[in-house]
Parts: sequence; C-alpha cells; structure tokens
Amino acid sequence: MSNGCHGKILWVDLTERTFEARDLSETFYRDYLGGHGLGAKVLWDNQRAGTDPLGPDNVLGFVPGLLTDTGALYSGRYMVVGKSPLTGMWGDAKSGGYFSPALKRTGYDGVFLRGKASQLVYVLVGEDGCEIKDAAHLAGLSPEDTESAIRRELQDNKIKVAAIGPAGERLSLISCIVNDGGRAAARSGLGAVMGAKLVKAIAVRGDRRVTVHDESRLKEINDAYLTRLKAGASFMDRMAAGDTHRAAKMLRKLPVAMRTEGGTYAELLRRYGTSGAMAYSVEVGDAPVKNFDGVGFTDFDMDSKSWRLSDESVIKYQKKKFFCHSCPLGCGGIVSVPDGKYKIDKEHKPEYETLAAFGSLCLNDDLESIIMLNHICNTAGLDTISAGVTVAFAIECFEKGMLSSSETDGLELKWGDADVIIELVKKMVAREGVGDLLADGVKVASEKIGRGSEQFAMHVAGQEAPMHDPRFDPTFGTAYTAEPTPARHTTSSRTYFEMMRFDKRFPELGKAGQLTLKKSKYKYSGKGAPQAAVSEYFQAASSAGLCMFSLITGGIPLDELLHAVAGWEVTLRDCLTIGHRILTLRQCYNVREGISPASITLPDRMLGRPPQDKGPLAGVTLDLETLKGDFYTALGWDARTGVPSQECLESLGIEAG
Ligand code: SF4
Repeated sequence: MSNGCHGKILWVDLTERTFEARDLSETFYRDYLGGHGLGAKVLWDNQRAGTDPLGPDNVLGFVPGLLTDTGALYSGRYMVVGKSPLTGMWGDAKSGGYFSPALKRTGYDGVFLRGKASQLVYVLVGEDGCEIKDAAHLAGLSPEDTESAIRRELQDNKIKVAAIGPAGERLSLISCIVNDGGRAAARSGLGAVMGAKLVKAIAVRGDRRVTVHDESRLKEINDAYLTRLKAGASFMDRMAAGDTHRAAKMLRKLPVAMRTEGGTYAELLRRYGTSGAMAYSVEVGDAPVKNFDGVGFTDFDMDSKSWRLSDESVIKYQKKKFFCHSCPLGCGGIVSVPDGKYKIDKEHKPEYETLAAFGSLCLNDDLESIIMLNHICNTAGLDTISAGVTVAFAIECFEKGMLSSSETDGLELKWGDADVIIELVKKMVAREGVGDLLADGVKVASEKIGRGSEQFAMHVAGQEAPMHDPRFDPTFGTAYTAEPTPARHTTSSRTYFEMMRFDKRFPELGKAGQLTLKKSKYKYSGKGAPQAAVSEYFQAASSAGLCMFSLITGGIPLDELLHAVAGWEVTLRDCLTIGHRILTLRQCYNVREGISPASITLPDRMLGRPPQDKGPLAGVTLDLETLKGDFYTALGWDARTGVPSQECLESLGIEAG
C-alpha cells in the first residue's frame, strides 16, 4: 500500500448494527486522493440514483485528506459527503480543527454510514472497527457538550468527536456537523442526513500513523514555506492589510481594479482572520447588503456601520488565536463578550461569512449580537450562511407584507434589529412557530409562503447563497451555478486565480495584471479555462486535506507534497487532472440523479435583473450563460448541457454506465 494512507475504509451498517473494513487499491488513492474525492468515488460505486437524502440508503461519509496526519502543513481538514437534502444533488462539506487527524489515526481512510439506527446512537470508531452506542442521554446537547459527555463516559480525553446539535436532530435542512466547539462542516445540509440516521456523533480514537515516503523532503517543503511566512509579508502587503478601509474607499471610486494579492490576504488572515476584509468587502460591493438588494456605502456605510464588524473591531474580543491541526497561520480565534446582554465566555471568532450573513445582509451592525448568533448556530449545529440568508429573506418578506406578525409569533421583523434576529434563529433551532417555517432554508420557506416570496429567496438549487456577490466578481456566479455543489464560494473564481498567481504557473491561461480596468470583469467570454484550472486544483488540494487558505495565500506545492508523502511522481499538471476527475465524477453523480446542470441559475437579483442603479455594482447584469458555457467547455463538458462528454470520461478513466 502507498504511503500517506491506510488502504482501507470502514463501512458501518446502522440498521444491522454491523461493520466491515474494505480495502482500497493504490490506484484508488492515486485517482481520487482522499477527502471528497475518495468520497465521491465510494458513493458513485455504492449508491443508487434516486436515493432519498433523508432515507436509510443515503450514504454519509467522513473522510480525512490524503495528506492529513503526515506532518504536511495545513493538512488537517476532513470532508463529509452524501446526497444533499437541500439540493437533491451531490453534497459535501469541509471542516478543520483536530477531528481529521484523529479520524485518520483510527487506521481507516474514511468511515461510511448507511442504514438507520433504531434509536439515537453514536458511533465510536477505533483501530479494530466500531461500536454503535446508545446516545439517548446526548439528545439535545450541543456538539461541544456531546464531545465532553462522550469523553467522560469513556474516560478518555483524547477522543475527538464530530456531532450534530439540536438542529440536526430536528432534521433542519440547513443543519451542519460540528467539531472542536465551532469548526463546522456546514454546507449541503448534511447535519440533517446524520440526524435522519439517528446518529448524534462520530467519536474517534486510535494511534495508527500512516507512513511517509520521504520525511526529510517533506520537512524541506514545510521549512521553505515557514521561512517565507516568517520573513513576513512585504511592505506593500503590510501597508495594504493595515489600511483596508482607506483602500476600499479609493478602489470603489476608481475605474480600475487592483489584483488581489495572496500576500496581503495572508497578512490579513494572520492579524484578523477572515474578518479582516469585512468592511472592505462591503464597501467595494463584494459582501452582499440587505438581502443582495442594498448598496454598501449607502445602506451599510463604513464610517458608521461596517467598520464595527471588521478587523480591529473584531479582534478586540479575541482572547487567543485558534490554529487548526498543522496550521502555521492560525486565522481562527476564541472570543468572549465580557458583559452586556450578549455576554459569552467563550466562542469561536465569527468568520467573514457569518459576519456578512448576520451583518451586512441583515443590516445588523451589532458585533456582539453576531458573536451570540455564531454561538447559537455552533451549539445548535446550524449553517451560519444559510441561517443568515434565511433571516434576511424573512425580514424582506415581512417588510413587503408577505409575512404578517400573526405568522411570525408576534415578532416585528426589521432590518438591523439584533434582538429580533436572535429570537428568530432560536425559533429556527427549536422549530417553534415561524421557526418551523424557516428551519429548512429559503427555498422551502418561500415554497410554503408563496405570494411571490421566491424572488427574495437567495439560493442556488436550494442552497443559500454565500457572501460574495457575483455581480462584483462574475466568476463566483460560475462557481455557484456550474460546479457540482451549488452556491459554494470555496471552489473557484477569478479572485482566487489572481491570489494564487496561477498565471505564473500556467502562463497559457493569461496574465493576472496588477491593474485592470474594472469593466474587463464584465467581459464574459474567455474566463472558463483559467477558472476551470483553479477549480481542478482546489478539488485536488481539498481531497488531499489542505486548507484553501494555504492555496490562496502564497501556495503550498501540492505536487511536491504528494511526492514527498506518497512517493508518487506527479506534476502540477497531474494535480489538475486528478482535480478534473473529482470534479467530473461529482458532475456525473448529479446527472445520474436526473439533474440538468445547465438549468441551475442564480436568483434574478444576483444576476442583476434588473441592474442596480447606484453603487459599485450599478448597471451590472451578468451573462451567466457565456460564463457557464466557457467553464463547461474547458472541462470537456457539453457547453450547452453541462454533461461531461464521453471523450472527457474516457480520458479520466470514469465509467459512467
Ligand atoms: S488558515 Fe485558518 S482555517 Fe486554515 S488551517 Fe489555519 S486556522 Fe484553520
């Protein structure tokens, strides 16, 4: 067996209460690495089309990356895979923290659950398989308390746990799976899949380490990166990271855009985490405002509002930094609110996506309330993006008269009313009153409400939209609609292409100039090939277990890491081929489910139909068809339908029959 992996996965049948280890060939790992790549291949081979996402036949997998627990920097992520109940399509979600290396030390390269337990259980995975244990006493607990209770019960403080909270137990379609108190595998609604299987938690313990092909080469690669990191960001990066507010005001007005620099973003992450660019993003039009209908500098202006949710304002609450496993950067943090009505002793620092979803999207500038909302979501196991988008939708419905106070349990839903937003999210967690209407996200809620409310439901194929407005960077529109996981902001974009300086590695993909005319963003043809390359690389790196911030802040060389760890002779181009295979297989999964990829689109508002008449996005209407067609073509998928061609499948060794 290859280095970097154990060569086997664990299958658990919850109905029969049995388990079985299955060996995988080295070719399997070479083709799909680990993480959601491996997960996609396992589900492709083992799941029927038309499976009910909340039924016993849906397979739910927990898969660490191929590089996880090898000593490679940034390699501590795992992925949850399964058919998404939100979209009816391929679903996956990633999380960091410390669960992934612990999972790998069980000696399995993935744990796949099928069937359904007869009562609430947790699955304890160890080196010799698993035990299915009663979890009645864990019902209603937060993921963090679940971990503590399991550790106490088994008298083992080294056990790591990924769990659902009350939202997942109540099958909220926007529920998630949480580890380390607040690192969430948040998207695709996979918390509901776990809840439907009556599995409260996966607990893992073990001490099996994988072997590494060339430890000294791995150390050299790590050392070279750490030397670059220690040398610090350039003077320009430090300047830019320290003055994003002024830069944003200037850039908003200029007809030119500056290349997004990976070094600057690394410095922002190191100082502030993802909150570093919050005010910047609102000002320039990246962060959506008022349910994607507002304009940053008028509706949520920097001097009075967005600065309260950004960089220095956030860091004031930070007690210590949080580093995921093997991470030298530590963009995370632990915050507390010492007093006041939103007092909290300890919570993970809200990420940019959370700040924007409960902040600019809802016109809420009360940071302490957002820390509280983050806490509520982390303890309930609720996706903060989906929850924020759902709240904004509800407020707009109320404002437009599509929801009345008799339907909201007497709550007067108003933009920026932090107390009401908190009350609404608590009700969603409890599925109480209006909370039950909203607990499954905006698509389901708008279908129930009717009355034209669907025009305010900001989702793509059922998944709530992330916090990067595609009218600001149209290639996010491509990612949200043409990738196999809709509404995903961590897959590909022009912005990432620039940050990674992919033009240096692949000059044939065109140059990422330092200054470009803003209007060139809205030249729609020709963007497919560079974006497809980014997407392929992200697919491979994610499946290897790498944090995406390692890719966009300067770059850990995936090809060299794979050689050092697994001993494979792979080039950067080979990494793209692996990513292409993973991307294409997931697309095949969707096609097998009867999905028509080309039919997936953005809400009119996000397309710019009609265009805004003021602000940095004024006049923008996206030509999504051209963007998607170019992206499909670059991947060897049919330009019109988005279905992978036979030639593409053959070149990647995918049997689609
Ligand atoms: S950069 Fe942030 S998210 Fe990525 S591994 Fe480090 S702490 Fe975790």
